[in-house]
Amino acid sequence: MQGFGTTRPVCPWNSLKRTILATIKATCLRGCAPRVKANEVIPDSPFTLVLSGGGLKGLAHIGVLRALEERGLVPNLVVGSSIGSLIGAAWAAGVPTRHMEARARLVRRRDVFQVARADVAFRRLLAPALYRREPLEALIEHLVGDITFDDLQRRLLVNTVDLHSGMQVMWGLPGLRGARVADAVAASCALPGIFPPREINGRSYVDGAVVENLPVRMAASLGQGPILAINVAATSVLRSEIETQGFAATYIRGLEIVMQTQIEAQLRDWKGPPLVLVQPRVEHISMFAFDKTHELIEAGYRATSNTLDQLGTRLDGITPGMHPTRRLRVLVDEARCVGCGSCVVQAPQVFRLDARGKAEVLTPVQNWSPIDGAYVLNCPTYAISVRPEDSAA
Ligand code: SF4
Repeated sequence: MQGFGTTRPVCPWNSLKRTILATIKATCLRGCAPRVKANEVIPDSPFTLVLSGGGLKGLAHIGVLRALEERGLVPNLVVGSSIGSLIGAAWAAGVPTRHMEARARLVRRRDVFQVARADVAFRRLLAPALYRREPLEALIEHLVGDITFDDLQRRLLVNTVDLHSGMQVMWGLPGLRGARVADAVAASCALPGIFPPREINGRSYVDGAVVENLPVRMAASLGQGPILAINVAATSVLRSEIETQGFAATYIRGLEIVMQTQIEAQLRDWKGPPLVLVQPRVEHISMFAFDKTHELIEAGYRATSNTLDQLGTRLDGITPGMHPTRRLRVLVDEARCVGCGSCVVQAPQVFRLDARGKAEVLTPVQNWSPIDGAYVLNCPTYAISVRPEDSAA
């Protein structure tokens, strides 16, 4: 187990790479233009990849990794929560993305969800969870293997929460690297009520999403360089008839809303390192959909490729704040506005109520990051809309 302050051995290959890079840089400074592709990251420009939780929607992370690979982008740290930790662990263990894709296509509902019948029948409300832990843990172990964080080829942090203290615990930090990766990932996937808490070294841990589903705060303090954060749990589409789909669906929907609110609060006025937020279009897909694997992976690939294209610069060239941004025009339909003032409370810098008690937009054209604009969905009468900047009001 490695502790704080351990001296790392000098790697001759890294030393050779540094020499080669120094020579290339010196040559370029003497007059040749650098031949670096847009978004390509050179080895001395590290970035951190953050993979959110989101149930099976997290299979989109496989497409994210494929898009990064195509561009030669290799994060020097991955921080994962829940299924984000599973995909991150497979990546850190050296599993090729094509193998992850192939394995994901074979996963069926019974491989993950088997009702804990005995517990539910005999212990009733004292049952620790709806589903058994064993099938999920077998799947994790099959993908990640029987290794500790010290054995990983790449740097990984797994987000969990100590159920007793409520403390966020990041497996993979110095002092926590002797743990089995599969155990930490199982704990990170243990959504309370759905899967039982996972015991590690005598303590019980659950899904880190309870406190930080998109662990950017940890990435900001523990990583280097910009952050590329993938949120597969965004929920800006309206859902209907959840209440008729049973306990699990209602419970999960409640969690989705909590997590989205948590992420918005965290990213509003972001003051950490430059952060690129990618939100694959998977909102319409259930967290338990086993027949959408291809669609999920492609959505992750497309969203990452499009976002990196939109940046128009390499990751190490982006400025502080949230990226990418878009210029949008905010509009209020007066006929629909009932003057409830909710938009003014949520975004006082954008709205005010006029003398007639109708919402008025103070600055119609705005620079939006992917996290902006929750007030559009929160207007009770759907009076607020947005359009591209140059469209007519
Ligand atoms: S939230 Fe909607 S209805 Fe309420 S004041 Fe704003 S625009 Fe009008």
